[in-house]
Amino acid sequence: MIIPFFIPHAGCPHQCVFCDQKSITGKTAPPDPSSFPSTISSYLATASPGVPVEVAFYGGSFTALPVEVQKRYLGAVQPFLDAGTVESIRLSTRPDAVTPGILALLKHYRVRTVELGAQSMDDEVLLLSGRGHTAAHTASAVTLLRERAFFIGLQLMPGLPGDTAAGFHETVSSVISLKPDFVRIYPALVIRDTPLAELYLTGKYAPLSLDDAVDICRGAMERFEAAGIAVIRAGLQPTEELERPGTVLAGPWHPAFRQLVGSSRFLESMRALLEPGNASAPVIFAVNPADLSSAIGQDRRNIHAIREQYNRDARIIADPNLPRGSIRKGPSCNTGEAGL
Ligand code: SF4
Repeated sequence: MIIPFFIPHAGCPHQCVFCDQKSITGKTAPPDPSSFPSTISSYLATASPGVPVEVAFYGGSFTALPVEVQKRYLGAVQPFLDAGTVESIRLSTRPDAVTPGILALLKHYRVRTVELGAQSMDDEVLLLSGRGHTAAHTASAVTLLRERAFFIGLQLMPGLPGDTAAGFHETVSSVISLKPDFVRIYPALVIRDTPLAELYLTGKYAPLSLDDAVDICRGAMERFEAAGIAVIRAGLQPTEELERPGTVLAGPWHPAFRQLVGSSRFLESMRALLEPGNASAPVIFAVNPADLSSAIGQDRRNIHAIREQYNRDARIIADPNLPRGSIRKGPSCNTGEAGL
């Protein structure tokens, strides 16, 4: 269980062109540390026994805050760590705000996980996005974190100004070589009142289409997973503010983006199992029961795609003997539930 505290834009020395944390997090101001005990206690009251609990600071540049402010935030969590009711602390920050001194402070306050907003490993893209740091800052921050045994996450953003599918492929290669413990992938969105919105409205920026973003993220996820790097999120978490009409002006926004990527992976697997132009009989695929809706796709998207491309009807059935994420063609004698 994660107990999140959002500190929108706190500590940020730059306005990244795509960012409006108030829309993304739904919070308008950082919390006061004096409110932490009651907030944490109310979350703990709902925690299932035995589930590890983490306190997280998201939505700003935590390690760029004045040290006294960082101490106040982290200090307010210490009694819960001492009592064993909270297991660890995680936070997100900028790659250029990671120094040996800051990391010593985080260790002292028992922070376990640091997530860096890397976004891209292309310096031109970082410049055009107003990030104010380079890819070298990200590489150096990862080295410092690893030397001190932090758990490391990198946040990436395909579709930034100046980026391309090939460029993001290179970013993924660079990130794999850094060997973070996990990544999050958030395709760039055009959010109202951001510099990116201005670029978009004046015709100087074109966002990714939803289909292109799904394709790019699918490719990236496959590569990260093959490298043993977990992708813990794809697409922004829906918030009331983000879903309000007029907040997202353009871009590949979808409240269930990750599910779209998962469906797209199943569609690619189905295509790989079919030989083009070979047969016209209906084809049956089997997946784990928990993957049925993902394999079928929203609005039966994958079924329609197979019909369109191969002129064949497809049926997807559940086979409890298959592991999650896998698919095979044709039923077996021990196939489980009815298909769809
Ligand atoms: S992307 Fe990160 S560093 Fe940039 S403005 Fe948003 S919170 Fe701050």
